[in-house]
Amino acid sequence: MSRLIPRLWLWVIAAVAPSLVAAQDRIALRAGRLVDVDRGEIRRDQVVLIRSGKIEGIQAASARLPTGIQVIDLSRYTVLPGLIDCHSHLIGEVATAAVLQPLERSEAQEAFSGVRNARATLLAGFTTVRDVGTYRAFVDVALRDAIKNGTVIGPRMIVAGAYVTVSTGAGELVGAAPDVTIPASFRFGVANSADQVRERVRAILNGGADFIKILATGAVFTRGTKPGVSEFTEEQIRAAVEQAAEYGTFVAAHAHGAKGINRAVRAGVRSIEHGSLMDDEAIALMKQRGTWLVADIWNGDYTDSVGRAERWPEDILRKNAETTEAQRVGFRKAVAAGVKIAYGTDSGIYPHGLNAMQLPYMVKYGMTPMQAVRSATLSAAQLMELQDSVGSLAPGKYADIIAVEGDALADLRSFRKVAFVMKGGVVYQRP
Ligand SMILES: [Zn+2]
Repeated sequence: MSRLIPRLWLWVIAAVAPSLVAAQDRIALRAGRLVDVDRGEIRRDQVVLIRSGKIEGIQAASARLPTGIQVIDLSRYTVLPGLIDCHSHLIGEVATAAVLQPLERSEAQEAFSGVRNARATLLAGFTTVRDVGTYRAFVDVALRDAIKNGTVIGPRMIVAGAYVTVSTGAGELVGAAPDVTIPASFRFGVANSADQVRERVRAILNGGADFIKILATGAVFTRGTKPGVSEFTEEQIRAAVEQAAEYGTFVAAHAHGAKGINRAVRAGVRSIEHGSLMDDEAIALMKQRGTWLVADIWNGDYTDSVGRAERWPEDILRKNAETTEAQRVGFRKAVAAGVKIAYGTDSGIYPHGLNAMQLPYMVKYGMTPMQAVRSATLSAAQLMELQDSVGSLAPGKYADIIAVEGDALADLRSFRKVAFVMKGGVVYQRP
C-alpha cells in the first residue's frame, strides 16, 4: 500500500497537469521541418532535445536519442521558435466604440480580462510579448508577475507600466466632459516638461515597469488627438531616454507623424511604434541610427471593417483610413532600405489571439517569409534585449517552441492555426 501511494500521486498529477510532468522530463521534439532563424534556413528531419525547460541541442532525426526520453512527434509539422509580439496591450477589453470604456470597469475586471487575453495570446503561439501600455497604471506589472510565478498562463512579458504622455495627449483617457476628473491611476505617466518626464519615468520604472512607452504624437484611437501632430519636444523625449538609460533600459515611442518620428529617433528611442506617416527622411534616419520600426500593418483592415459595422466614432475611422495605407507604403520602403523591423500588432485594438494575422501582410508589403518570421522571433528578441534567452532554437535558450502543420513558410496564413505550443519546456497545446 505504502509503495502504491507515490505511484497514485503521479497518476493524479499526470491527469491534472500533464504539462507539469512533461517539464520535469527530458523531451525530444521530432521536427519534419525546423526553422533556423539564426541562419535563415529550413532543415528537414531534425530533433530538438529539451532538458529542464531549455533547449539542450539539435540533431538529425537519424541520430540516436538518449534512452528513456519522452518523444513528441511533430514530423508532419514545421517547428519554429515561439513567436514574439512587440506591441501588445493585454490589459482590459478590446477596443469598441465606447471611448471611456476603461472608466466603467474596475481594476480587477481589467486584470481578469488580461488573464484571458494572455492565455489567448500564448495559445496562438506567441510565447513572449512586449506589452506597450495600459490605461490603469501597473496592472500589466501584476499580470507579468502572475504569469512568471505560475498563477496564470500566458506569454513572457516585458511591460511599460503606464503611458508617458502630455496632458490631453495620446496616452490620456479622453472624451469625458471638461469638469469630470479622471482618476489618478489613469494619469500616472502625464508629464509636460523635461523635468516632469524624468520624474514620471523614475516613478514608472521604480513601480516595476521594464521599459518606457512614450507617446510622441497624437493617436488614431485617442479622440481629439491628431496622429500627425507632435506632442513632446525632442528635448522632452531625450529626457525620457536618458532617465531610462540610468535604469539600463530603453524607450519605445508611439509616433505617427514624420516630424514626431524624427524627433524621437534623434532623441535616441530604441523603437518607433506605428511609424504610419514616415517619410524618406524618417526612414533614412532610422536606418542611420539603428532605430527599430514596429509597424502594425494589419489591424487597420480590422478597425475599418469592424469599426464601420459597429459604428465607431467617425473621427477614429477617418484617422485609421488616413494612416493605414500610408503606413504600408512606408513599411515597404523601410524594408527595402534595410531598417531594422520587429513584429508588433497592437493587439487589443483587435481580439487577442489573432496576432499572427499580420505575418502574411508583411510578405505582401515587401518581406520574404523568412524575414517576416525572423521579425517575429530573433529580431523581436533583439529589440527587447532578450536574444540570449528567446527568439531562436539554439542550445541554452528557453524551450519556447511552436509548430504549424505542413510547410508553414509556403503560406504564412497557416500561422492562424498554431497546432503546438511549448513555453519553457511546458506543453500548452498539442495537435
Ligand atoms: Zn498600441
